Amino acid sequence: MVSRVIPVDDFDLVIFGGTGDLARRKILPGLYRRFCAGQMPAEARIIGAARSDFGTPEFRDMVRDAIHEFSEKNDCDEQKIEQFLAQLHYVTIDVMGEGGWSELKDLMRDGIVKAFYFSVAPKLFGAIAERLHLKGISDQDSRIVVEKPFGRDLETAKALNADLAAHFDETQIYRIDHYLGKETVQNLMAVRFGNILFEPLWNAQYIDHIQITVAETVGVGGRGEYYDRAGAMRDMVQNHLMQLLCLIAMEPPSKYDPDAVRDEKLKVIRALEPIAPHHIVRGQYDATDTEQSYREDAGDPKSRTESYIALRCMIANWRWANTPIYIRTGKKLKARASEIAVVFKDTPHSIFGEEAGKHANVLRIRLQPNEGMTLQVTIKEPGPGGMRLVDVPLDMSFADALGDEDDVPDAYERLIMDVIRGNQTLFMRGDEVEAAWAWTDPLINGWTARNDVPKLYDVGSAGPDDAALMLKRENRVWREIKE
Ligand code: NAD
Repeated sequence: MVSRVIPVDDFDLVIFGGTGDLARRKILPGLYRRFCAGQMPAEARIIGAARSDFGTPEFRDMVRDAIHEFSEKNDCDEQKIEQFLAQLHYVTIDVMGEGGWSELKDLMRDGIVKAFYFSVAPKLFGAIAERLHLKGISDQDSRIVVEKPFGRDLETAKALNADLAAHFDETQIYRIDHYLGKETVQNLMAVRFGNILFEPLWNAQYIDHIQITVAETVGVGGRGEYYDRAGAMRDMVQNHLMQLLCLIAMEPPSKYDPDAVRDEKLKVIRALEPIAPHHIVRGQYDATDTEQSYREDAGDPKSRTESYIALRCMIANWRWANTPIYIRTGKKLKARASEIAVVFKDTPHSIFGEEAGKHANVLRIRLQPNEGMTLQVTIKEPGPGGMRLVDVPLDMSFADALGDEDDVPDAYERLIMDVIRGNQTLFMRGDEVEAAWAWTDPLINGWTARNDVPKLYDVGSAGPDDAALMLKRENRVWREIKE
């Protein structure tokens, strides 16, 4: 099945930090792919703005190199690349200074969608918002896109929200969480709310527990210093894993509309219970003969920052009473695999006797690699010799079901096009971000006050043993981490 491409309206998109890592790896190759797909109007302008003293020709050269280096699914020819580059411009601006803004204003057109992507450090967000407004470059229809991290606690998130709100209405602010741009994440909503099969069973009565796993094989690499000030809780849980948890646990919104969806997500975050220390496991990867330890990577031999975290979350409402949602994420684990597993309860009575064993249905939603879903169902083991049961997956990998995976836009591509369309459904609202920090802060403050030391785990393992024990105490096991 070939995905349908609906062209967006004409736009000018300014990328502050247009020469940075994120712009080169994700944003610009993503826009190029949308251009190749025929979604970008021929008049649209993409304007890089950064401190580097470049001209437009040098910027185009940089983007050409970035496309060659980072566009994995490169199905376009050199001629297409040149056509795309012709839509690119560059302005040198130090966003803390006064130079370059009038040049930017002159480049931008009126009467079309104007979007500004803040792909720079968050400490610059306020300055950019203020200057765009004061210099008359943005208007009440303009959109701004901001990157994570959105604060490092409730107080800083509130300050950031206030800085942006001073010049832009909430309907103009797009806080990006690229997990929400993944095809499978949106499919989670389609499966839950587009089928009669699942929703009646989607509650504490039929679901035993849920596991959300985001496992990485990479370490903190060159981001050691930044990461050590954040840790897995701030870097992954407060945003990405919380968003997944919200989508899996929320009530059906009355319609697929930005505020209806985000209202329901917010209710989930507000219903999260505080977590007792024995339901939190923090870990750090240890050195091997060939690999450095987390502390060496972070450059702090005494660091107590977690490169792994597992949590047992409980949602205090009727739907989820007493149904744990276990979440875990970590670096240098055995495989790169992100998935949500909804583990249903056993049947109330087995007609097949004890020897048939226990069999639970599991709906597995795979985010990466190989986006797709499988539903594990129990059937009779084929062949003669009595009734033996076996669990088999009903597989719906998107590549098989929906055709070429290359046709599916990646998360950044999709989200940038949503900004141009003015659709905020897959972006976090300010109150959601604040509520997430309000839940996260006491947990972080708790382990800081207790001076907790993270447990060591081997590189290439499934994480610290204590995480396995946390589930074992409740007669459950983590699902295997595998690609
Ligand atoms: P980077 O350091 O590679 O690039 C920063 C960019 O900002 C450069 O283009 C630089 O010229 C520009 N810049 C810095 N100070 C400036 C100033 N005063 N005026 C104008 N331009 C200025 O950073 P990055 O990795 O591209 O990250 C950008 C943002 O995206 C950060 O907020 C980061 O947290 C976030 N982010 C990055 C990634 C990633 O994979 N790189 C992932 C998620 C979020």
